[in-house]
Amino acid sequence: MTEKLWWQLSIAESVTAVGSNIEGGLPSKEVQERQTRFNNSLDSGKQIQPLVLLLNQFTDTMVLVLLGATVISGLVGAMGDALTIMAIVILNAVLGFIQEYRAEKSLDEIKKLVSPHAVVLRDGKTIKIPSQELVPGDLVFLEAGDKVPADLRLISSSGLEIDESALTGESVPVEKNAEDICLADTLLAEKSNMAFLGTSVTRGRGRALVVETGMNTVMGQIAGMMKETEKNMTPLQVRLDQLGKILIAICLLVCALVALLGIWRGESILTMFMAGISLAVAAIPEGLPAIVTVVLALGVQRMAKHNAIVRKLPAVETLGCTTVICSDKTGTLTRNQMTVRKLAVMDKTVEIEGDGYEPRGKFTWAGRSIQALNDKNLKMILNIALNCNQSALRQEKNGYGVQGDPTEGALLVMAAKAGLKNKLEILREIPFDSERKRMSVVVQEQGQYYLLVKGALDYIIPYCSRVVKNDTVKTLENTEKQAFINMQEAWASDALRVLGFAYKPLIQDNWKKKNDLELETDLILAGICGMIDPPRPGALRSVKKCQRAGIVPVMITGDHPLTASAIAREIGISKENRVISGGEIDHLTDSELYKRVLQDRVVARVSPQHKNRIVNVLKAHQQVVAMTGDGVNDAPAIKTADIGIAMGISGTQVTKESAGMILTDDDFSTIVRAIYEGRAIYDNIRKFIRYLLGGNIGEVLVMFLATLMGTPLPMLPIQILWVNLVTDGLPAMALGIEPPEPGIMNRPPRPKNESIFARGLGWIILSRGTYIAMISLATFLIGYYWSHQHGMDGLDLGRTMAFTTLVFAQLFYVFECRSEQYSPFELGFFKNKFLIGAVLISIIMQLFVIYLPTLQNVFATVPLEGWQWAIILLASGFRIILRFILYTWQRFFVFNRGYAKI
Ligand code: ATP
Repeated sequence: MTEKLWWQLSIAESVTAVGSNIEGGLPSKEVQERQTRFNNSLDSGKQIQPLVLLLNQFTDTMVLVLLGATVISGLVGAMGDALTIMAIVILNAVLGFIQEYRAEKSLDEIKKLVSPHAVVLRDGKTIKIPSQELVPGDLVFLEAGDKVPADLRLISSSGLEIDESALTGESVPVEKNAEDICLADTLLAEKSNMAFLGTSVTRGRGRALVVETGMNTVMGQIAGMMKETEKNMTPLQVRLDQLGKILIAICLLVCALVALLGIWRGESILTMFMAGISLAVAAIPEGLPAIVTVVLALGVQRMAKHNAIVRKLPAVETLGCTTVICSDKTGTLTRNQMTVRKLAVMDKTVEIEGDGYEPRGKFTWAGRSIQALNDKNLKMILNIALNCNQSALRQEKNGYGVQGDPTEGALLVMAAKAGLKNKLEILREIPFDSERKRMSVVVQEQGQYYLLVKGALDYIIPYCSRVVKNDTVKTLENTEKQAFINMQEAWASDALRVLGFAYKPLIQDNWKKKNDLELETDLILAGICGMIDPPRPGALRSVKKCQRAGIVPVMITGDHPLTASAIAREIGISKENRVISGGEIDHLTDSELYKRVLQDRVVARVSPQHKNRIVNVLKAHQQVVAMTGDGVNDAPAIKTADIGIAMGISGTQVTKESAGMILTDDDFSTIVRAIYEGRAIYDNIRKFIRYLLGGNIGEVLVMFLATLMGTPLPMLPIQILWVNLVTDGLPAMALGIEPPEPGIMNRPPRPKNESIFARGLGWIILSRGTYIAMISLATFLIGYYWSHQHGMDGLDLGRTMAFTTLVFAQLFYVFECRSEQYSPFELGFFKNKFLIGAVLISIIMQLFVIYLPTLQNVFATVPLEGWQWAIILLASGFRIILRFILYTWQRFFVFNRGYAKI
């Protein structure tokens, strides 16, 4: 666009070069035009290709062998058989395709949800847009915690520091200055008037023009960076993958044995070859990984609907094992809707009326309404509240809202209630961060420069040497300091959040030469204010739910210990007044800290390093920790936690990228809900593993036992494949979406390294598989011998009976797999509509195979008579019938047996 490079241009030159407008940003028409030419995406744009996915279904070795064998059997003459097997294989592939496609699609949806955003000025309005939609010329706002969304030329900066380690490897953040002009060959790390895509703002603020997007950025040239929702396998998927391999080996061995024994006993080689392969295809739980992915992905989608976006799939599993939730207070446990209630200067305490952000309400002193602006000292505080402030008050459709930090919003509202609205220009800003717990600005009013400071009182008082008393500035005595501290404690005990205000007049331009620390000294203490931030409506209930579920909720906050403890008591986190303060943490050993955290459950006035230490200590004691965070400095703790949770509303992009999960509503209850979903998802995975493996063991074992016993084959290859199709597909999938069972939050968390077969599941699968095999073999023998006794060829009847038993036993079994604790009748037999639908479809398909003459020829089946059905249904439904009788008995004769509801 220009011959000079961006960093060589002055601000005005770059605005012209990129064709932008500093006042209002780009007009949307221009944006649309530019979007046709530019794309701010580094993605390789890999889309799911349905055809490739479908064809992939046929690349499975076993399926290929089966297809090969089918062709051979077709050539040898069994054309009908060959065609049917082909049809079954294709149906199976379609089913596999649907499963995988759904999984991929859901993961794609989730990726979209977590894609980064940028705040831009367009058409004169400040809006938040997906970073991908940025075009050159867009004017973006940067602040601490933001990821730089494209390559930018800065046009204003205030204390701006950027971590460019992603590009330069240099871990110390670099200072930026919009006014600088660099030489053409300035090193990347020294281009102080530029900000580059993929780097992150660690401090300060700035405004900048987008000059390069997407693949034209420095990062784009390095390419291949930035991945959103990671598709890496979860630990469970890895374990299942290993299990799958072991199962395949065992299956192949048994199938080969069955085939060899059959040949040795005189069956035809082709039949036994086909039987062996069909058995292998049927018995290998090839659907397992796909169903696990579907269940995880569906669960993740459900969580997204409930405001929890999972960025890293393993987090879903870990959620179910969570033993401690370390949660922020402000905004997560409380509403983050602050209203200033009290204001105090040295000689008076004023009450402020009004609710929410509506800038209407009286100031009263000793019960009488007053004009706050008539009091010099109160006016000073209101001035600090208004000007040492980066938020904006906005009139919205249904009332007023705040853009920016709610604490600052409350201060704006307070100033507006007194009639103070017009802000002064900020000449310099020392930004707020959770370490300093205060913020300062330099402003000029009527020729006089002022430093205005607001923040946590205990982080301001040490820098104050003077105070305003009776409208005059005097030395701040210890007794006066103590008086303010006592007042803060009294207010904090009433759950008020207390902020202190201080200021000092500055001598002309002297402040320009001083660094931040030098500026913030010798301050004049003006007074304090107290604001309410009520607990979120659902917090108490969610805290209780956690406690019932064996999870310890811990509040970790930057706020005052007394405010923290008052809120903690209100929402039931702690009944006592015990709080660990940030200062104390430094003096505790790891094991002391561990005990105190679990005992006191409230940690206040913490800095981000304390959060990190707490996570480490908890983890070292085998706790599974979920930790929330919003600020850029919280990223390390979030990364270290088993589940790092970032705040969607107040959280910075950097925190979000370190997190495993993002809460779009910042609400504590959403974490608890996600844990609930996490537990349910794991349960469901166990359910269909129980079902699939139980059924598959039944299928292999019936053939194996028959060959051992020397009976003819109880099922033909085609029948085995059919059983696999009817039982492994739809019912297993439907089980994966079983609604969570009652009481899921009334049991303790599952141990993190627990085997998937723990708590007796392995035994249940084995015994159920054996049972299914035994009854199928038994019905085969009954059909076989009965036919013989009646002078018929018994194989077709025996096989039809065995084959139908195998199908029905699994279709009954699937209902039992719905819960490890409750009978399907207790859960509501018809509650899982998909399962009912899947089972009905399977039954109808099975009836077609038995009763439709064309299919009878293909599958070598015969119609069954009443007594034969009775035997089949009794044998396969034995357990469920028993459970039904028991359930009915209890309903009618044992009253009040109700089970805990979630
Ligand atoms: P959480 O509970 O989520 O950790 P918090 O808001 O209580 O959040 P911080 O944001 O670290 O914790 O704030 C700590 C203290 O700093 C507050 O108690 C308040 O006194 C002060 N403070 C908060 N926001 C501002 C601000 N914008 N400017 C100046 N001081 C602030």
